[in-house]
Amino acid sequence: MIELFSDTGMAEIERFVDADTLFAFDLDGTLAPIVDDPTAIELPGPVLRSLTTLSRLAVTAVITGRSRNDALAKLGFQPRYLVGNHGMEGLPGVARPQQELQGQVAGWHQQLNRLLAPQILSGTIFEQKGCSLSLHYRHASDPRLVHAGLLAAIEHLEPTPRRVGGKFVENLLPQGAPHKGDALLQLMAHSGCSKALFVGDDETDEDVFRLHDPRIFSICVGTERTSAADFHLRDQADMARTLEHLINLIRSL
Ligand SMILES: [Mg+2]
Repeated sequence: MIELFSDTGMAEIERFVDADTLFAFDLDGTLAPIVDDPTAIELPGPVLRSLTTLSRLAVTAVITGRSRNDALAKLGFQPRYLVGNHGMEGLPGVARPQQELQGQVAGWHQQLNRLLAPQILSGTIFEQKGCSLSLHYRHASDPRLVHAGLLAAIEHLEPTPRRVGGKFVENLLPQGAPHKGDALLQLMAHSGCSKALFVGDDETDEDVFRLHDPRIFSICVGTERTSAADFHLRDQADMARTLEHLINLIRSL
């Protein structure tokens, strides 16, 4: 990965961005810093101001693991597109998640209640998001133990979910449902944008990075994880600077 704010990174982004570029972002850990209480996330002032400006100048999208309603309440600005549930919710042209998917997710929740030992269960916060289920263990007294217990139980779930790990979270998604990479391609097709720039920080964002699509400029926030992205920011604090730079690039077109 190349650091975005290096000579090479700056030259590449300048060469890439044009009037046909869609700008898409993950939310937690990307636009907003991760905080202890996930319900308390907030976009820093400079990020919010720049996103509001960027959304007037270009097509913007937020693609998040949160449900759409939850994300809408946290954002404070209106992107052209807001896709929730890791790519499954709010895609234009795609029917609302079917009851069958939601039934699958509710079924996993019930099975986990039976499968998990009391000390694992008590260290886990279940977040049922309609068509996906997130298991948070950030606040467990022994997160490693709880994580191991969760992984063992997930093996027994039926039907087998697609499991995507994150920071102190395991996300369970229905097999074959659209992921963030599918969602971004769909948004490009829907908006008529021939290119996209995507910034994300987490395992679910790798579904975009792994496309290795030359039409997508991929940026990973942070360097502690191995990532298939081409470029990286040092940390989330560089996000405001990135947005400012994008606005300057668009204005100079
Ligand atoms: Mg994230």
